[in-house]
Amino acid sequence: MSNSSIINLNDSLPPLIGNDRTDLAALFAPEQQPSFRTEQVFKWLYGKGIRDPRDFSNMPKPFRTHLAENFSESAVEVEYRTSSDVSQVVKYLFRLVDGKKVEGVWIPDRDRGTLCVSSQVGCALGCEYCATGSMGFTRNLTSGEIIDQLLTVRYRENKLITHVVFMGMGEPLQNYDAVAKIVRILNDPAGCAIARRHITISTAGWIPGIERLIADHLPCRLAISLGSPDDEIRAKLMPVAQRFPLTDLFAAAKAWTSEMDDHVTIEYTLLAGVNDRPEDAKKLNKMLMGIPSKINILTYNPGPDARFERSSGAQTERFTTLLEEIFCGPVTRRISRGDEIGAACGQLVLLKK
Ligand code: SF4
Repeated sequence: MSNSSIINLNDSLPPLIGNDRTDLAALFAPEQQPSFRTEQVFKWLYGKGIRDPRDFSNMPKPFRTHLAENFSESAVEVEYRTSSDVSQVVKYLFRLVDGKKVEGVWIPDRDRGTLCVSSQVGCALGCEYCATGSMGFTRNLTSGEIIDQLLTVRYRENKLITHVVFMGMGEPLQNYDAVAKIVRILNDPAGCAIARRHITISTAGWIPGIERLIADHLPCRLAISLGSPDDEIRAKLMPVAQRFPLTDLFAAAKAWTSEMDDHVTIEYTLLAGVNDRPEDAKKLNKMLMGIPSKINILTYNPGPDARFERSSGAQTERFTTLLEEIFCGPVTRRISRGDEIGAACGQLVLLKK
């Protein structure tokens, strides 16, 4: 079997990866293959992680040759990989066929491994506390470029990826079609076989996307990066809030929890003097009443040109303790890992050379 780590990023051919069953069936139709061929290819690509069609050993050789000659094996190439001895977190820089670059972060743990994937080159939403937001938006990633981040890391790290979070570069719900296609492949038992509860889409509050998640019953969890429970402050931190106020956002979140019979996670990054006061905790608690939810308190990781300061340890403690006292759902504090290599939440940015 040939080595699947040898990446052949060919910009003149479309990648085979990133296609779901429907796409594959359409691609193979002119070849007059039996219908089970689609399922076989699907399993090779996503279940086994074999990207070279010449290795699809249960298929006729002419068909394998046809695939090898007409499709690229990859959609991304590893430009560099940097790992931290302190946290074991690994940051990947992926190069795309047009030379654009995105980052992904591998966070290994004793009994699980989480991959944080990017969904766009840059981001249009421009949240003030996010390094990616300062890059502006370049383009959406294709479904192949999204799934290849996972296939590449799975192969390179030689570890099972148990959790996938769409928390890398970009607002995943603004690239809905490609992201939804990949979520289904991730969750498919013949694909990557990752449980629905281990796939999370994190949004800054793009309500049209939440409505599509509900309509499609997409097999994933939902996290909302809140910024502030105050519309005015939130609008200053996150331009998307000028379009979608909190009452609408929480109504959409509640509808999602009912449809999916799940709780929504509120990601709350503490910014010193901005959203870490007792009144912020009380307001947050009030706004979440009646919504099955969990609050995840995050440490701010200042990226290049940071405009905010991280809340002190004492202030973080006070805020968390107050929320734990008044909020009826779980309150967790996410231990930030990877900031020593610029791989922590909010730090993903490509420095201009
Ligand atoms: Fe975009 Fe998310 Fe950063 Fe906001 S937090 S700018 S949505 S990547």
